[in-house]
Amino acid sequence: MRRLFLLLIVLLAASSAAFSQTTKAFPSAADISTPPAAQTRHLDVKAAVDAYLALVPAEARARSNTYFEGGYWLILWDFLFGAVVALALLNTTFSAHMRDLAERITRFRFLQTFFYWIEYLLLISLVGLPLTIYEGFFRERQYGLMNQSFGDWFSQQMIGLVVGAILGGLLVTALFGIVRRLPRTWWIWGSAVSVVFLVISILIGPVFISPLFNKYTKLKDERVRQPILALARANGIPATDVWEVDASRQSNRVSANVSGFLGTERITLNDNLLRRCSLEEIAPVMGHEMGHYVLNHIFKDILFFTLEALLFFGFLRWSLEWTLARWGAKWQIRGIGDTAVLPLVMLLASVFGFVMTPVNNSWTRAQEYEADLFGINASRQPDGEAKVDLMLGEYRKLDPSPLEEIIFFDHPSGRTRITAAMRYKAEHMDDLQNAPSAGSAPAAQPAPQPTP
Ligand SMILES: [Zn+2]
Repeated sequence: MRRLFLLLIVLLAASSAAFSQTTKAFPSAADISTPPAAQTRHLDVKAAVDAYLALVPAEARARSNTYFEGGYWLILWDFLFGAVVALALLNTTFSAHMRDLAERITRFRFLQTFFYWIEYLLLISLVGLPLTIYEGFFRERQYGLMNQSFGDWFSQQMIGLVVGAILGGLLVTALFGIVRRLPRTWWIWGSAVSVVFLVISILIGPVFISPLFNKYTKLKDERVRQPILALARANGIPATDVWEVDASRQSNRVSANVSGFLGTERITLNDNLLRRCSLEEIAPVMGHEMGHYVLNHIFKDILFFTLEALLFFGFLRWSLEWTLARWGAKWQIRGIGDTAVLPLVMLLASVFGFVMTPVNNSWTRAQEYEADLFGINASRQPDGEAKVDLMLGEYRKLDPSPLEEIIFFDHPSGRTRITAAMRYKAEHMDDLQNAPSAGSAPAAQPAPQPTP
Protein backbone atom coordinates (compact mmCIF):
# COMPACT_ATOMS: atom_id res chain seq x y z
CA MET A 1 0.00 0.00 0.00
CA ARG A 2 2.66 2.47 1.06
CA ARG A 3 4.85 1.56 -1.91
CA LEU A 4 1.92 2.18 -4.19
CA PHE A 5 1.59 5.71 -2.83
CA LEU A 6 5.30 6.36 -3.17
CA LEU A 7 5.13 5.23 -6.77
CA LEU A 8 2.16 7.52 -7.32
CA ILE A 9 4.06 10.48 -5.87
CA VAL A 10 7.04 9.83 -8.13
CA LEU A 11 4.78 9.54 -11.18
CA LEU A 12 2.95 12.74 -10.33
CA ALA A 13 6.20 14.59 -9.74
CA ALA A 14 7.57 13.41 -13.08
CA SER A 15 4.48 14.27 -15.06
CA SER A 16 4.08 17.65 -13.38
CA ALA A 17 7.53 18.62 -14.60
CA ALA A 18 6.37 17.91 -18.15
CA PHE A 19 3.15 19.79 -17.58
CA SER A 20 3.33 23.13 -19.33
CA GLN A 21 2.03 26.04 -17.35
CA THR A 22 -0.77 27.92 -19.08
CA THR A 23 0.12 31.42 -20.19
CA LYS A 24 -1.22 34.18 -18.03
CA ALA A 25 -3.77 36.13 -20.01
CA PHE A 26 -4.80 38.07 -16.92
CA PRO A 27 -3.47 41.61 -16.95
CA SER A 28 -1.42 43.03 -14.10
CA ALA A 29 -2.95 46.13 -12.57
CA ALA A 30 0.00 48.23 -13.66
CA ASP A 31 -0.90 47.40 -17.30
CA ILE A 32 -4.59 48.22 -16.98
CA SER A 33 -5.65 51.71 -17.95
CA THR A 34 -8.89 53.19 -16.68
CA PRO A 35 -11.61 52.56 -19.29
CA PRO A 36 -13.26 55.69 -20.80
CA ALA A 37 -16.66 54.74 -19.33
CA ALA A 38 -15.13 55.12 -15.86
CA GLN A 39 -13.77 58.60 -16.62
CA THR A 40 -16.82 60.51 -17.82
CA ARG A 41 -17.96 63.51 -15.82
CA HIS A 42 -21.38 62.03 -15.04
CA LEU A 43 -20.38 58.51 -14.31
CA ASP A 44 -22.87 55.74 -15.05
CA VAL A 45 -21.92 53.18 -12.39
CA LYS A 46 -23.13 50.09 -14.24
CA ALA A 47 -21.55 51.16 -17.52
CA ALA A 48 -18.25 51.81 -15.75
CA VAL A 49 -18.35 48.39 -14.04
CA ASP A 50 -19.16 46.63 -17.33
CA ALA A 51 -16.32 48.52 -19.04
CA TYR A 52 -13.87 47.36 -16.36
CA LEU A 53 -15.05 43.74 -16.57
CA ALA A 54 -14.75 43.84 -20.37
CA LEU A 55 -11.01 44.48 -20.01
CA VAL A 56 -10.42 40.83 -19.16
CA PRO A 57 -9.99 38.72 -22.32
CA ALA A 58 -12.81 36.21 -22.86
CA GLU A 59 -10.44 33.25 -22.75
CA ALA A 60 -8.96 34.30 -19.41
CA ARG A 61 -12.44 34.87 -18.00
CA ALA A 62 -13.60 31.42 -19.15
CA ARG A 63 -10.60 29.75 -17.55
CA SER A 64 -11.11 31.58 -14.26
CA ASN A 65 -14.81 30.58 -14.26
CA THR A 66 -13.96 26.93 -14.87
CA TYR A 67 -11.37 26.97 -12.11
CA PHE A 68 -13.67 28.58 -9.56
CA GLU A 69 -16.76 26.52 -10.44
CA GLY A 70 -14.64 23.37 -10.17
CA GLY A 71 -14.12 24.42 -6.55
CA TYR A 72 -17.89 24.12 -5.92
CA TRP A 73 -17.71 20.45 -6.90
CA LEU A 74 -14.60 19.87 -4.83
CA ILE A 75 -16.57 20.85 -1.72
CA LEU A 76 -18.97 18.01 -2.54
CA TRP A 77 -16.32 15.44 -3.51
CA ASP A 78 -14.22 16.18 -0.42
CA PHE A 79 -17.28 15.80 1.76
CA LEU A 80 -18.32 12.49 0.17
CA PHE A 81 -14.79 11.11 0.22
CA GLY A 82 -14.39 11.97 3.91
CA ALA A 83 -17.75 10.37 4.70
CA VAL A 84 -16.83 7.13 2.93
CA VAL A 85 -13.48 6.91 4.74
CA ALA A 86 -15.07 7.62 8.15
CA LEU A 87 -17.80 5.01 7.65
CA ALA A 88 -15.21 2.47 6.49
CA LEU A 89 -13.08 3.06 9.62
CA LEU A 90 -16.14 2.57 11.83
CA ASN A 91 -17.78 -0.37 10.06
CA THR A 92 -14.60 -2.42 9.75
CA THR A 93 -13.90 -1.65 13.48
CA PHE A 94 -10.51 -0.39 12.27
CA SER A 95 -11.01 2.64 14.50
CA ALA A 96 -11.53 0.39 17.52
CA HIS A 97 -8.33 -1.46 16.61
CA MET A 98 -6.40 1.83 16.43
CA ARG A 99 -7.68 2.63 19.93
CA ASP A 100 -6.57 -0.80 21.18
CA LEU A 101 -3.12 -0.16 19.72
CA ALA A 102 -2.90 3.23 21.46
CA GLU A 103 -3.91 1.57 24.74
CA ARG A 104 -1.16 -1.01 24.36
CA ILE A 105 1.46 1.71 23.82
CA THR A 106 0.76 3.60 27.06
CA ARG A 107 -1.43 3.37 30.12
CA PHE A 108 -1.89 7.14 30.46
CA ARG A 109 -5.31 8.13 29.16
CA PHE A 110 -4.32 11.50 27.70
CA LEU A 111 -1.37 9.94 25.87
CA GLN A 112 -3.63 7.23 24.48
CA THR A 113 -5.82 9.96 23.01
CA PHE A 114 -2.80 11.72 21.55
CA PHE A 115 -1.45 8.50 20.01
CA TYR A 116 -4.83 7.67 18.55
CA TRP A 117 -4.87 11.14 16.97
CA ILE A 118 -1.47 10.55 15.35
CA GLU A 119 -2.61 7.16 13.99
CA TYR A 120 -5.81 8.71 12.67
CA LEU A 121 -4.12 11.73 11.09
CA LEU A 122 -1.48 9.63 9.33
CA LEU A 123 -4.07 7.21 8.00
CA ILE A 124 -6.41 9.95 6.76
CA SER A 125 -3.53 11.86 5.15
CA LEU A 126 -2.27 8.74 3.40
CA VAL A 127 -5.68 7.66 2.10
CA GLY A 128 -6.51 11.19 0.98
CA LEU A 129 -3.11 11.81 -0.58
CA PRO A 130 -4.15 11.40 -4.25
CA LEU A 131 -7.03 13.84 -3.76
CA THR A 132 -4.79 16.30 -1.88
CA ILE A 133 -2.17 16.15 -4.63
CA TYR A 134 -4.77 16.71 -7.33
CA GLU A 135 -6.47 19.61 -5.53
CA GLY A 136 -3.46 21.26 -4.00
CA PHE A 137 -0.86 20.83 -6.70
CA PHE A 138 -2.07 19.47 -10.03
CA ARG A 139 -5.20 21.49 -10.41
CA GLU A 140 -3.42 24.70 -9.36
CA ARG A 141 -0.68 24.02 -11.85
CA GLN A 142 -3.16 23.21 -14.59
CA TYR A 143 -4.63 26.70 -14.20
CA GLY A 144 -1.27 28.40 -14.02
CA LEU A 145 -1.66 29.33 -10.35
CA MET A 146 1.23 27.28 -8.96
CA ASN A 147 4.84 28.46 -8.76
CA GLN A 148 6.19 25.66 -6.57
CA SER A 149 7.96 22.54 -7.68
CA PHE A 150 6.34 19.33 -6.53
CA GLY A 151 9.14 18.76 -4.04
CA ASP A 152 8.78 22.17 -2.42
CA TRP A 153 5.01 21.86 -2.31
CA PHE A 154 5.17 18.39 -0.84
CA SER A 155 7.68 19.33 1.85
CA GLN A 156 5.39 22.21 2.89
CA GLN A 157 2.51 19.76 3.11
CA MET A 158 4.66 17.71 5.49
CA ILE A 159 5.28 20.77 7.66
CA GLY A 160 1.52 21.32 7.71
CA LEU A 161 1.05 17.72 8.79
CA VAL A 162 3.44 18.15 11.72
CA VAL A 163 1.68 21.36 12.81
CA GLY A 164 -1.67 19.56 12.54
CA ALA A 165 -0.34 16.63 14.54
CA ILE A 166 0.78 18.88 17.40
CA LEU A 167 -2.03 21.47 17.54
CA GLY A 168 -4.76 19.01 16.57
CA GLY A 169 -3.42 16.49 19.08
CA LEU A 170 -3.52 19.05 21.89
CA LEU A 171 -7.09 20.08 21.03
CA VAL A 172 -8.39 16.51 20.68
CA THR A 173 -6.70 15.44 23.94
CA ALA A 174 -8.19 18.41 25.78
CA LEU A 175 -11.67 17.77 24.37
CA PHE A 176 -11.70 14.07 25.24
CA GLY A 177 -10.46 14.94 28.74
CA ILE A 178 -13.46 17.24 29.12
CA VAL A 179 -15.94 14.68 27.76
CA ARG A 180 -14.72 12.07 30.29
CA ARG A 181 -14.80 14.39 33.30
CA LEU A 182 -17.98 16.34 32.50
CA PRO A 183 -20.35 13.86 30.82
CA ARG A 184 -23.33 16.22 31.08
CA THR A 185 -21.97 19.64 30.26
CA TRP A 186 -19.01 18.69 28.03
CA TRP A 187 -20.56 20.35 25.00
CA ILE A 188 -20.49 23.80 26.69
CA TRP A 189 -16.94 23.38 28.00
CA GLY A 190 -15.90 21.89 24.68
CA SER A 191 -17.07 25.07 22.94
CA ALA A 192 -15.16 27.19 25.46
CA VAL A 193 -11.93 25.22 24.98
CA SER A 194 -12.30 25.43 21.18
CA VAL A 195 -12.61 29.21 21.42
CA VAL A 196 -9.51 29.37 23.63
CA PHE A 197 -7.64 27.31 21.03
CA LEU A 198 -8.81 29.64 18.28
CA VAL A 199 -7.63 32.66 20.24
CA ILE A 200 -4.24 31.06 20.90
CA SER A 201 -3.80 30.14 17.24
CA ILE A 202 -4.67 33.69 16.12
CA LEU A 203 -2.19 34.95 18.68
CA ILE A 204 0.73 32.70 17.75
CA GLY A 205 -0.14 32.27 14.05
CA PRO A 206 1.77 35.23 12.60
CA VAL A 207 4.77 34.69 14.88
CA PHE A 208 5.21 30.90 14.92
CA ILE A 209 3.09 29.25 12.21
CA SER A 210 3.18 31.48 9.11
CA PRO A 211 7.01 31.78 9.09
CA LEU A 212 7.18 27.98 8.70
CA PHE A 213 5.82 28.40 5.18
CA ASN A 214 7.04 31.81 4.03
CA LYS A 215 9.65 34.43 4.70
CA TYR A 216 8.43 37.60 6.38
CA THR A 217 10.54 40.72 6.20
CA LYS A 218 9.96 44.33 7.07
CA LEU A 219 9.12 46.34 3.98
CA LYS A 220 12.03 48.62 3.18
CA ASP A 221 10.96 50.46 0.01
CA GLU A 222 10.24 53.92 1.48
CA ARG A 223 8.16 54.97 -1.54
CA VAL A 224 5.62 52.32 -0.55
CA ARG A 225 6.25 52.12 3.20
CA GLN A 226 5.77 55.81 3.98
CA PRO A 227 2.36 56.22 2.26
CA ILE A 228 1.10 53.02 3.89
CA LEU A 229 2.21 54.17 7.35
CA ALA A 230 0.63 57.60 6.66
CA LEU A 231 -2.62 55.86 5.73
CA ALA A 232 -2.38 53.80 8.93
CA ARG A 233 -1.77 56.86 11.14
CA ALA A 234 -4.64 58.73 9.47
CA ASN A 235 -6.94 55.87 10.45
CA GLY A 236 -5.85 55.56 14.05
CA ILE A 237 -3.51 52.59 13.65
CA PRO A 238 -0.24 53.03 15.56
CA ALA A 239 1.77 50.91 13.11
CA THR A 240 5.49 51.45 12.78
CA ASP A 241 6.19 48.61 10.34
CA VAL A 242 4.69 47.03 7.28
CA TRP A 243 5.57 43.41 6.54
CA GLU A 244 6.26 41.80 3.23
CA VAL A 245 5.84 38.09 2.54
CA ASP A 246 7.38 36.08 -0.32
CA ALA A 247 4.05 34.66 -1.50
CA SER A 248 5.54 34.29 -4.99
CA ARG A 249 7.11 31.12 -3.62
CA GLN A 250 3.67 29.52 -3.96
CA SER A 251 1.83 31.52 -6.64
CA ASN A 252 1.43 34.86 -8.45
CA ARG A 253 -1.71 35.68 -6.50
CA VAL A 254 -1.94 39.25 -5.32
CA SER A 255 -2.84 39.45 -1.65
CA ALA A 256 -2.41 41.16 1.71
CA ASN A 257 -3.66 40.38 5.17
CA VAL A 258 -3.93 41.58 8.71
CA SER A 259 -3.22 38.98 11.37
CA GLY A 260 -2.68 38.49 15.09
CA PHE A 261 -4.07 40.51 17.98
CA LEU A 262 -3.27 41.65 21.52
CA GLY A 263 0.16 42.81 20.45
CA THR A 264 0.95 40.43 17.60
CA GLU A 265 -1.02 42.44 15.04
CA ARG A 266 0.66 43.06 11.75
CA ILE A 267 -0.27 44.25 8.31
CA THR A 268 1.39 42.20 5.60
CA LEU A 269 1.43 42.69 1.86
CA ASN A 270 2.76 40.11 -0.51
CA ASP A 271 5.57 40.51 -3.02
CA ASN A 272 3.19 39.84 -5.94
CA LEU A 273 1.24 42.93 -4.98
CA LEU A 274 4.46 44.95 -4.92
CA ARG A 275 5.61 43.53 -8.22
CA ARG A 276 2.38 43.69 -10.18
CA CYS A 277 0.75 46.87 -8.86
CA SER A 278 1.51 50.56 -8.44
CA LEU A 279 0.72 52.68 -5.40
CA GLU A 280 -2.68 53.54 -6.88
CA GLU A 281 -3.68 49.89 -6.36
CA ILE A 282 -1.60 49.08 -3.29
CA ALA A 283 -3.26 51.91 -1.30
CA PRO A 284 -6.85 50.57 -1.47
CA VAL A 285 -5.61 47.04 -0.71
CA MET A 286 -3.80 48.24 2.39
CA GLY A 287 -6.82 50.40 3.25
CA HIS A 288 -8.91 47.22 3.09
CA GLU A 289 -6.59 45.43 5.54
CA MET A 290 -6.67 48.43 7.86
CA GLY A 291 -10.46 48.26 7.64
CA HIS A 292 -10.36 44.74 9.11
CA TYR A 293 -8.33 46.14 11.97
CA VAL A 294 -10.27 49.35 12.65
CA LEU A 295 -13.64 47.58 12.36
CA ASN A 296 -12.48 44.95 14.90
CA HIS A 297 -13.15 42.06 12.59
CA ILE A 298 -10.95 39.66 14.53
CA PHE A 299 -13.02 40.19 17.70
CA LYS A 300 -16.26 39.85 15.76
CA ASP A 301 -14.93 36.65 14.18
CA ILE A 302 -14.18 35.21 17.61
CA LEU A 303 -17.71 36.06 18.74
CA PHE A 304 -19.18 34.47 15.62
CA PHE A 305 -17.02 31.39 16.12
CA THR A 306 -18.17 31.12 19.76
CA LEU A 307 -21.82 31.04 18.74
CA GLU A 308 -21.14 28.56 15.98
CA ALA A 309 -19.08 26.35 18.31
CA LEU A 310 -22.01 26.19 20.75
CA LEU A 311 -24.33 25.28 17.91
CA PHE A 312 -21.90 22.65 16.65
CA PHE A 313 -21.24 21.03 20.02
CA GLY A 314 -24.98 21.02 20.75
CA PHE A 315 -25.55 19.24 17.43
CA LEU A 316 -22.65 16.90 18.18
CA ARG A 317 -24.04 15.89 21.57
CA TRP A 318 -27.44 15.07 20.13
CA SER A 319 -26.20 13.31 16.99
CA LEU A 320 -23.54 11.28 18.84
CA GLU A 321 -26.09 9.92 21.30
CA TRP A 322 -28.47 9.07 18.49
CA THR A 323 -25.83 7.36 16.34
CA LEU A 324 -24.05 5.46 19.10
CA ALA A 325 -27.34 4.12 20.47
CA ARG A 326 -27.89 2.46 17.09
CA TRP A 327 -24.44 1.40 15.90
CA GLY A 328 -22.05 1.95 18.80
CA ALA A 329 -21.88 -1.75 19.72
CA LYS A 330 -21.36 -2.81 16.12
CA TRP A 331 -18.48 -0.34 15.78
CA GLN A 332 -17.07 -1.50 19.17
CA ILE A 333 -17.18 2.05 20.55
CA ARG A 334 -17.55 2.14 24.35
CA GLY A 335 -19.10 5.63 24.52
CA ILE A 336 -18.49 9.29 23.71
CA GLY A 337 -15.35 9.33 25.88
CA ASP A 338 -13.77 6.58 23.75
CA THR A 339 -11.25 7.90 21.23
CA ALA A 340 -12.43 5.31 18.70
CA VAL A 341 -15.43 7.62 18.21
CA LEU A 342 -13.24 10.23 16.48
CA PRO A 343 -14.04 9.25 12.84
CA LEU A 344 -17.73 9.62 13.70
CA VAL A 345 -17.08 13.05 15.26
CA MET A 346 -15.18 14.10 12.12
CA LEU A 347 -18.01 12.83 9.92
CA LEU A 348 -20.61 14.77 11.92
CA ALA A 349 -18.34 17.84 11.85
CA SER A 350 -18.08 17.64 8.07
CA VAL A 351 -21.88 17.31 7.76
CA PHE A 352 -22.20 20.43 9.93
CA GLY A 353 -19.53 22.29 7.96
CA PHE A 354 -21.07 21.28 4.64
CA VAL A 355 -24.51 22.57 5.64
CA MET A 356 -23.00 25.76 7.14
CA THR A 357 -20.94 26.60 4.04
CA PRO A 358 -23.26 29.41 2.84
CA VAL A 359 -23.56 30.85 6.37
CA ASN A 360 -19.81 30.92 6.98
CA ASN A 361 -19.10 32.28 3.51
CA SER A 362 -21.71 35.00 3.93
CA TRP A 363 -20.35 36.02 7.32
CA THR A 364 -16.83 36.38 5.93
CA ARG A 365 -17.99 38.01 2.72
CA ALA A 366 -19.98 40.64 4.65
CA GLN A 367 -16.82 41.56 6.59
CA GLU A 368 -14.75 41.65 3.42
CA TYR A 369 -17.26 43.99 1.83
CA GLU A 370 -17.08 46.29 4.87
CA ALA A 371 -13.29 46.28 4.57
CA ASP A 372 -13.60 47.13 0.87
CA LEU A 373 -15.76 50.15 1.63
CA PHE A 374 -13.30 51.23 4.32
CA GLY A 375 -10.35 50.80 1.97
CA ILE A 376 -11.92 52.82 -0.84
CA ASN A 377 -12.84 55.62 1.56
CA ALA A 378 -9.45 55.64 3.25
CA SER A 379 -7.35 55.52 0.07
CA ARG A 380 -9.68 57.48 -2.23
CA GLN A 381 -8.51 55.29 -5.10
CA PRO A 382 -11.65 53.77 -6.64
CA ASP A 383 -9.90 53.02 -9.94
CA GLY A 384 -6.97 51.38 -8.17
CA GLU A 385 -9.48 49.25 -6.27
CA ALA A 386 -11.24 48.27 -9.51
CA LYS A 387 -7.96 47.26 -11.15
CA VAL A 388 -6.92 45.04 -8.24
CA ASP A 389 -10.41 43.52 -8.20
CA LEU A 390 -9.92 42.54 -11.84
CA MET A 391 -6.63 40.85 -11.00
CA LEU A 392 -8.29 38.85 -8.23
CA GLY A 393 -10.43 37.42 -11.03
CA GLU A 394 -7.48 35.17 -11.80
CA TYR A 395 -8.71 32.80 -9.13
CA ARG A 396 -12.20 34.04 -8.28
CA LYS A 397 -15.13 34.16 -10.69
CA LEU A 398 -15.67 37.81 -11.65
CA ASP A 399 -19.36 37.92 -12.44
CA PRO A 400 -21.43 35.18 -10.71
CA SER A 401 -25.19 35.04 -10.17
CA PRO A 402 -26.36 36.56 -6.84
CA LEU A 403 -27.26 33.14 -5.40
CA GLU A 404 -23.91 31.70 -6.43
CA GLU A 405 -22.20 34.57 -4.63
CA ILE A 406 -24.20 33.97 -1.43
CA ILE A 407 -23.45 30.23 -1.33
CA PHE A 408 -19.88 29.94 -2.55
CA PHE A 409 -18.08 33.29 -2.19
CA ASP A 410 -16.10 34.09 0.96
CA HIS A 411 -15.10 37.42 -0.64
CA PRO A 412 -17.32 39.64 -2.78
CA SER A 413 -17.17 38.94 -6.51
CA GLY A 414 -15.29 41.23 -8.88
CA ARG A 415 -18.57 42.79 -10.04
CA THR A 416 -19.68 43.56 -6.47
CA ARG A 417 -16.33 45.07 -5.51
CA ILE A 418 -15.94 47.16 -8.67
CA THR A 419 -19.54 48.36 -8.26
CA ALA A 420 -18.67 49.62 -4.77
CA ALA A 421 -15.62 51.41 -6.17
CA MET A 422 -17.46 53.02 -9.07
CA ARG A 423 -20.36 54.05 -6.85
CA TYR A 424 -17.85 55.84 -4.61
CA LYS A 425 -16.24 57.45 -7.64
CA ALA A 426 -19.58 58.64 -9.03
CA GLU A 427 -20.39 60.32 -5.69
CA HIS A 428 -16.95 61.90 -5.34
CA MET A 429 -16.27 63.09 -8.87
CA ASP A 430 -15.72 66.71 -7.83
CA ASP A 431 -13.40 66.23 -4.86
CA LEU A 432 -11.45 63.42 -6.56
CA GLN A 433 -10.64 65.74 -9.44
CA ASN A 434 -9.91 68.83 -7.38
CA ALA A 435 -7.79 67.49 -4.55
CA PRO A 436 -4.92 65.05 -4.48
CA SER A 437 -6.04 61.93 -2.63
CA ALA A 438 -4.44 60.13 0.28
CA GLY A 439 -3.14 57.35 -1.89
CA SER A 440 -2.08 59.36 -4.90
CA ALA A 441 -0.32 62.22 -3.08
CA PRO A 442 3.03 60.44 -2.80
CA ALA A 443 2.66 59.10 -6.33
CA ALA A 444 4.17 62.41 -7.48
CA GLN A 445 7.32 60.42 -6.86
CA PRO A 446 7.96 57.66 -9.36
CA ALA A 447 5.89 54.50 -8.96
CA PRO A 448 7.66 51.66 -7.11
CA GLN A 449 9.88 49.58 -9.30
CA PRO A 450 9.35 45.83 -9.43
CA THR A 451 11.19 44.10 -6.64
CA PRO A 452 12.98 40.88 -7.47
ZN1 LIG B 1 -10.03 41.07 3.62
